[in-house]
Amino acid sequence: MACIFCKIIKGEIPSLKLFESEKTLAFLDIGPLSRGHSLIIPKHHGAKLHDIPDDQLAEVLSVTKKIAVAQGVQDYNVLQNNGRIAHQEVDHVHFHLIPKPNETEGLGIEWPTK
Ligand code: IMP
Repeated sequence: MACIFCKIIKGEIPSLKLFESEKTLAFLDIGPLSRGHSLIIPKHHGAKLHDIPDDQLAEVLSVTKKIAVAQGVQDYNVLQNNGRIAHQEVDHVHFHLIPKPNETEGLGIEWPTK
């Protein structure tokens, strides 16, 4: 298996995990664009958005929201690239959650209850 994110899911490559469930993994980006930049991925391997089952996508988006809430950020970008022309480098679907620099002071994780 050559996919670097599948290796992270299997624990063959280390990562700083923020969340893990049966379907979803979230971890810090190795080259952060801002403090707290994280990646949220379905465990199902697929290169592009249309390769991922709906239930997996739904949980990925829900986890993305919960991490933003837990980080306490008000301003942030959620990005998801598909294909080289669209600047995708890793061919395993991932959502970037990128806090904006002046909103990253309260990054202690406190998981929301709902
Ligand atoms: P893309 O351009 O949307 O495909 O983004 C790929 C992202 O994966 C980049 O932000 C990289 O910094 C990140 N990345 C690549 N390898 C690793 C890794 O081993 N751990 C964490 N993040 C990674």
